[in-house]
Amino acid sequence: MSLEKSEKLYERAKTLLPGGVSSPVRAIEPYPFYTASASGSMITDVDGNEYIDYCMAYGPKILGHAHPRIKAAIMEQLEKGWLYGTPTELEVNLAGKIAGFYPSIDMLRFVSTGTEATMSALRLARGFTGKNKFIKIEGGFHGAHEAVLVKAGSGATTLGKPDSLGIPRDFTKYTLQVPFNDIEAMTSLIESNSDELAAVIMEPVMGNIGPILPEGNYLKEVRKVTQENDVLLIFDEVITGFRLAMGGAQEFFGVTPDMTTLGKIIGGGMPIGVFGGRREIIEMIAPSGGVYQAGTFSGNPASAAAGIAVLDVLKKENVHRTLNAKGDEVRARLSDLVSDMALDYNVCGIASMFKIFFGDAPSNYQEVLKCDKEGYFEFFHRMLKSGVFLPPSQFETNFLSFAHSDSDIDRTLEAYGANLK
Ligand SMILES: *Cc1c(COP(=O)(O)O)cnc(C)c1O
Repeated sequence: MSLEKSEKLYERAKTLLPGGVSSPVRAIEPYPFYTASASGSMITDVDGNEYIDYCMAYGPKILGHAHPRIKAAIMEQLEKGWLYGTPTELEVNLAGKIAGFYPSIDMLRFVSTGTEATMSALRLARGFTGKNKFIKIEGGFHGAHEAVLVKAGSGATTLGKPDSLGIPRDFTKYTLQVPFNDIEAMTSLIESNSDELAAVIMEPVMGNIGPILPEGNYLKEVRKVTQENDVLLIFDEVITGFRLAMGGAQEFFGVTPDMTTLGKIIGGGMPIGVFGGRREIIEMIAPSGGVYQAGTFSGNPASAAAGIAVLDVLKKENVHRTLNAKGDEVRARLSDLVSDMALDYNVCGIASMFKIFFGDAPSNYQEVLKCDKEGYFEFFHRMLKSGVFLPPSQFETNFLSFAHSDSDIDRTLEAYGANLK
């Protein structure tokens, strides 16, 4: 297996792009493979190596790469031009479809990334409530903007400390954090701050520290305590939206948030983000209200066309039923492997998300930190040599797509078996 071209490209990239990449997670040491093309479940690098892909662009490619229906929708739009700076029928239709699948969303605004979606949702929550503070879950990821880049582990009662240079202390002092799955911590933090608290923002299933599920009635109890204290609940469904079910985690778990952020899947692989929710809240966005938000590429016709196509295929082909069953199968077979080998590892996940934790099954961020991260990284490299591309970290989720075949899964399980040994 040669990776000569990738190695050379990385050398050059490091002189032009900081760390050699356009987003930090891609800087896989000693060097990442450079992709030449991808189709279905497979991704091919510039040296001609092929891998079964479980990274799937970190979530968006639920139908696999280069899906013919999405490709056709994008091509058709390209013929007509792909950016106008005017409203289009496409954005109205995509908004209607999204609202149709999410009863909690009466109205929405399109943006270009998940980062923009959560940033704007938090601004709107503050504008709507007239309050400044919000609570996030420790280790929860909501993109790369000031208010959410706070250090983990600062405890429930201390104010957020920036987790990046260049962020003034003042920009994170309204950000409070609690551990996932701890309703007592959440309740007491809400009750002691309710006069100043605009919102709770959370991933209903934590997807950026490996898949960690809400335990028992946790989500329902969070909904109850936010409602009782007049605090908005924002579900960040950038990963779970259209992943767990058409109606996302809120449909799957039967919990209704006040606002929702979406991204990743809903653009069919093109850049997109959405924040939406109850009409009286979303109407406060400019130009109908006083909370400002704008974007040159927002609602662009190429992303909207791709988004409509992906939602149509998901619905028409009843993708979630097949895909979630495949996820169950993969998790069961991995669990069998782990127990046959008597390893102290744990297989976690839900729907089409899965992961082996090199340690105990975690229920929050501090517990993931106890896993064998270095061991996992070595395992990642061995899997790559076996032709399976997993996300390169213990903290990232593996994604199954509709394009993964039974033989892909058999080959993948074989590779897991050989490399775990
Ligand atoms: C990926 C992600 C984001 C950020 O989306 P971008 O499009 O990368 O800006 C926000 N929230 C969650 C839960 C995500 O997984």
